[in-house]
Amino acid sequence: MKPIPKLLSKTKLLRGFRCLKAIYLTIHHPELEPPVDAATQALFDQGNEVGREARKYYPDGVLINNQPWDFYGALSTTQRLIENQTTILFEAAFAYQRCYARIDILKLNPETKRFHLIEVKSTTKVKPEHITDTALQAWIVSKSGIPLEKISILHLNSECRYPHLDNLFKEVDITDEVRATYLSIQPKLHEIFTTLQQPNIPNIDIGPYCLLPTVCPFKSHCWQNIPEISIFNLPQIKNKKWDLYQQGVIHLSDANAIDFDFSELQTRVLNYEKTGERFIDHDAIQKNLSTWQFPLVFLDFETVNPAIPRFEGCGPYHHVPFQFSVHVWQTPNEKTTHTAFLHETNDDPRETLIPALLKSCGTSGSIVAYFSQFESERIQALADYSQEHKQDLENLITRMVDPLPIIRDYVYDRAFAGSFSLKSVAPALLGESQSYEGMQIANGNDAQRGFEQLISPDISFKEKEQLKEAMLAYCNKDTEVMVELAKWLFRL
Ligand code: SF4
Repeated sequence: MKPIPKLLSKTKLLRGFRCLKAIYLTIHHPELEPPVDAATQALFDQGNEVGREARKYYPDGVLINNQPWDFYGALSTTQRLIENQTTILFEAAFAYQRCYARIDILKLNPETKRFHLIEVKSTTKVKPEHITDTALQAWIVSKSGIPLEKISILHLNSECRYPHLDNLFKEVDITDEVRATYLSIQPKLHEIFTTLQQPNIPNIDIGPYCLLPTVCPFKSHCWQNIPEISIFNLPQIKNKKWDLYQQGVIHLSDANAIDFDFSELQTRVLNYEKTGERFIDHDAIQKNLSTWQFPLVFLDFETVNPAIPRFEGCGPYHHVPFQFSVHVWQTPNEKTTHTAFLHETNDDPRETLIPALLKSCGTSGSIVAYFSQFESERIQALADYSQEHKQDLENLITRMVDPLPIIRDYVYDRAFAGSFSLKSVAPALLGESQSYEGMQIANGNDAQRGFEQLISPDISFKEKEQLKEAMLAYCNKDTEVMVELAKWLFRL
């Protein structure tokens, strides 16, 4: 057992509100927590960026810029500024007993001498977990002697459109919700600190709290007895997986033995997992493919969706395509041709992307996209943006066809492991050469981060060239794999 720190930050304490085992492992077994990966770091960076942006809306605010680990420095700076009656504080620090929190925005009402606590969130609405988070902060602040009169969440406003960012944030008063939770804070903290003093790891089984609101950092430790393929892999199972787990069903083979309301797709997955045979409904596939028209145009977009909008007409998290790959298969007897587009500067990609997209897609044949809803929505957004090309872009949407429902409804192979994503289906049906393993950019999140790096003024020429190559290779791979998948379907 490690000594319990004199002060525990709100972030760590909240782990205990989720699961007592999580806080215990955080303090006594930090070696079990994997290092923060690039995707999680990107989320932290985004949260910090939104926090910085929110401060701009309070020009008189004073930032307490002690580093996150400098608890005592931040506490003493806060105390001094409060004694000086500073009206708006950013990152004010408070501690009570062993609990420590920093408050995004704290506003003094000079008339009542009471404070308004504002928690900034990078979401576009208030989520249930925000209430516990803010209630814990309010508890620490109040107990340390600061009177609060109002508690709010300041979240991104989904109605806001660039370049008019004056309504980027929306303030929601959650004083009543916090009040309703407030009395539960002290008993929970008592439970947390009692648990931390125990010699053994609390005996807590896995549950929905491992996955929500985010995946717990200790999942790889606590879930080590769950096999790689289990009832958690069943498609569209959602929360019903916990009903199965409670009944002792973990292996897919166990699921066959119980009376449970599985969907048609889940039943098929269970049956073919059991036999190990591959399911193919040739007639249904043929019928579906007969609606596809040559030339087949295989399309894949990569998009960026910044929390703080930076392209005309866009709101928070709106997707803007910056890259596409198109393979065209003119006739069944011809080889495919390929075109690619990658925007490389920090201006609006749509101006150059739209004409390039229309040229690459031509005016005839089916446009094939895996989970085509995503591509259709992006094209509709491009059409809404460009009056000049609106009709031509909307014509592209009418040509869309999608291999995903064909695979999901009429093909199953054990190697899918319950997933119908292109990255699972392609290597299972076409062989390992169609796997994304080992690629520098291997998924959409990597591509987004790659784009931000690509347009950064700090990137060197050599780094930029290498990155471009990796990004083009990834997007190209997506359409190349779709071509091979289509050929495989036609061969059936
Ligand atoms: S993985 Fe689940 S059981 Fe393990 S610490 Fe996290 S929330 Fe608790």
